[in-house]
Amino acid sequence: MQLLSDRILNMATSATLAMAAKARELRGEGKDIIGLSLGEPDFNTPDFIKEAAIQAINDNYNSYSPVDGYGELKDAIITKFKRDNNLTYTPAQIVVSTGAKQSLANIAGVMINEGDEVILPCPYWVSYADIVKLNDGVPVEVKTSIDTDFKMTASQLEAAITPNTKMLWFSSPCNPSGSVYSKDELRALADVLVKHPNIYVVSDEIYEHINYGEGHVSMAEFDDMYDRTITVNGVSKAFAMTGWRIGYIGAPEKIARACNKMQGQITSGANCIAQRAVITALNESPSRVQYMIDEFKVRRDLILSLLNDIEGFNTNTPEGAFYVFPNISHFFGKTFRGTTINNASDFSMYLLEEALVATVDGGAFGNPDCIRISYAASQEQIIEAIKRIKEVVS
Ligand code: PMP
Ligand code: GLU
Repeated sequence: MQLLSDRILNMATSATLAMAAKARELRGEGKDIIGLSLGEPDFNTPDFIKEAAIQAINDNYNSYSPVDGYGELKDAIITKFKRDNNLTYTPAQIVVSTGAKQSLANIAGVMINEGDEVILPCPYWVSYADIVKLNDGVPVEVKTSIDTDFKMTASQLEAAITPNTKMLWFSSPCNPSGSVYSKDELRALADVLVKHPNIYVVSDEIYEHINYGEGHVSMAEFDDMYDRTITVNGVSKAFAMTGWRIGYIGAPEKIARACNKMQGQITSGANCIAQRAVITALNESPSRVQYMIDEFKVRRDLILSLLNDIEGFNTNTPEGAFYVFPNISHFFGKTFRGTTINNASDFSMYLLEEALVATVDGGAFGNPDCIRISYAASQEQIIEAIKRIKEVVS
């Protein structure tokens, strides 16, 4: 009998984490790798949040929390949703999880039946497709290109809908393209969805605060979408808390209850110290973390100007998150230093081996003409990385 399940054998390894592990391994061998692969702020968690965690340890928070999160944390999340997104939720609609990744896995686990289709505008965040497949769902990729700023149009959404469509999953600001849907663009998608009342939306808003443009709009803000939208958010990105592992949802009560039930059999409540710290993080004004967003914007402008200087990197202007997603298909079929580049995976590996710069193959995000470069790194690292890239593709 086969040792491992078909389920795990058929699952792709997370490309972002795999590249980060490879970069770490090469660094261990003494190579001077610049890591622009992982979507992780390079800032420390702000002191006011760290102090809340230390206080929680000293206050003897050491027992299991309620499975769906402490009541005080749910209250802070409700305050945050109201303050930042004009969304009204009750405690029964909130579930706190071990990262937004678990929130997404919960949603898939409680909503997808075999053969249900989930529409994923491409490029999408790397784990969406595999979380859907793990739950016997069928990812339906909707291709977008740099010409529409990598955003799905209403007519593309309409064309992708079938009688089996269960959900639409998307992130805005988008990982990996950095694109942000405007209110009008979201409304146009909502206008299609109101004609299909059985379709639910997973609106992944984890980059909400990392927005350099007009400001964030939540799909659930539209009255006719509120009952059909699961708003996913977390503290990893805006608060530089990736390792603390706290994410959360605001959802229709039935779905929230189901996620709570799922989590109760799989992980129980999220880490209790991290939950206490997040109460403090969310009760504060987002202006406390604006210094990080300001710095990301400077880096975005820097990396765009440096990339524009290299022939073959065709890039949109990302309005949020901390990634650029250049189309590098110009290099396909070309040979550099004895290596022929046939696709984005070859290109990303070539950059790792020759420029010692870690990026991620866009194919992992559903767009094999692009690579993702994270600019959550210092300005010095960005300048050095792009200089090295320029050298190896000239
Ligand atoms: N959604 C998106 C779009 C992301 O980029 C990430 C990256 N971490 C997640 C969800 C998951 O975040 P976490 O589990 O760290 O909360
Ligand atoms: N979300 C980040 C990224 O896209 C972190 C890695 C991960 O969880 O996949 O790089």
